[in-house]
Amino acid sequence: MPDAPADAAARRAVAPVICYPNETLPTPDLALYRATREGAAKVAEVVVPPREAACFRVAAGQFFRITSVEGPQVGDLNLWNADDLSERFYSGKTRALHGTHVTTGERLWSSFPHLRPMATIIEDSLGWYGIDEYGGSVHDVIGTRCDPYTGNLLSGVQYHHCCHSNLTRALADELGVSLEDAELHVHDVLNVFMCTGFTRDTGQYFMKASPVRPGDHLEFFAEIDLLGALSACPGGDCSAQHTSDTAACFPLLVEVFAAADGALGDWLSPSRNGYDRSHGR
Ligand SMILES: [Zn+2]
Repeated sequence: MPDAPADAAARRAVAPVICYPNETLPTPDLALYRATREGAAKVAEVVVPPREAACFRVAAGQFFRITSVEGPQVGDLNLWNADDLSERFYSGKTRALHGTHVTTGERLWSSFPHLRPMATIIEDSLGWYGIDEYGGSVHDVIGTRCDPYTGNLLSGVQYHHCCHSNLTRALADELGVSLEDAELHVHDVLNVFMCTGFTRDTGQYFMKASPVRPGDHLEFFAEIDLLGALSACPGGDCSAQHTSDTAACFPLLVEVFAAADGALGDWLSPSRNGYDRSHGR
């Protein structure tokens, strides 16, 4: 390790600056969404089996709720524009805008060149958790998704029920395409209910037993027409490990609710990002 310069302490003492102050982000009308949700009716539900994934569709202006049932379980969520799969959830930019974990009032943003809200969180029954003494919190946008490639890299295993493969199979079935085609659409997830952080001493990504219990839920308002896929992670509550069949795993419930006619008033689905895409030429 190189010797520290004489002014090392002073350099370290510089106060941080928030990269993306988000006061100018368009603010979701949570009061409208919640009032609309009061009169909304359930139109669909999907039960995601343990160590599997399932797809669901939510029209713009509808709601979807992910609920823990039977036992503590985390879920890996992918979202696409239902009409254009090239527009998909952008975990990294969501993290840059809102922080490492998301909760009520925060949004899931889409990839370039679209960069618009895909969904807004309107209710989070784990919103009480905050940030614990280890720096852990729930619903992260820092993990990628458990996948068979990293498992193979680290342990030489061939394990097929990682979230990446679960999402790939579910999407292939939903679209009627090959696994190879479907896999290219699978992307970094929102880790629903997962409790994660970075260790303070080494900066390593950690997980710990999720505080989720049956009945806990995370609910979203769909800002655009969505195709979603949710995997019930083979890590279960992620208290010990993933990429194996040893953890206790439980199903997850996805419910879709449609607003009453006219309840959203003059609400409009957000437009694509306004950058002109000329890139200086
Ligand atoms: Zn997983």
